[in-house]
Amino acid sequence: MAEVTEAERILRNSGIRITRPRVEVYDYILSKRTHPTCEEIYDNLKDVSPSLSLATVYNVTERLVDEHLLLRLNSPNGERRFDGTLKMHGHLYCEVCGNVYDFDVRDDLVSDESDLVIKNIIVTASGICSDCRCD
Ligand SMILES: [Zn+2]
Ligand SMILES: [Zn+2]
Repeated sequence: MAEVTEAERILRNSGIRITRPRVEVYDYILSKRTHPTCEEIYDNLKDVSPSLSLATVYNVTERLVDEHLLLRLNSPNGERRFDGTLKMHGHLYCEVCGNVYDFDVRDDLVSDESDLVIKNIIVTASGICSDCRCD
């Protein structure tokens, strides 16, 4: 019996039709903490999955964003990166290597007394990651 991956389980629970590209792309993003771009996803999957195209990767990621299973990050340098971690967290954009790192954010960050309905808070920081620090 084939092992059910995390992506397959989440897609099934969300009522989204399971296709091989969806499972492959989503599993790749869930397995990485690097917030990959479509190009990176495609480069890493094309050898194991020769029928996959870059256009398919674009379509799958857009669909999963629409279904609220992925977050799309618009990096300061214009890259579009994807994140499978939906619980609230912040992103640090490293000024040296350009990679994106997660950091923890308290979810009581907002003490808002107005009647606004806040659905999503984006916390973005710039700085230097631990690999690029030279101390
Ligand atoms: Zn860095
Ligand atoms: Zn993240």
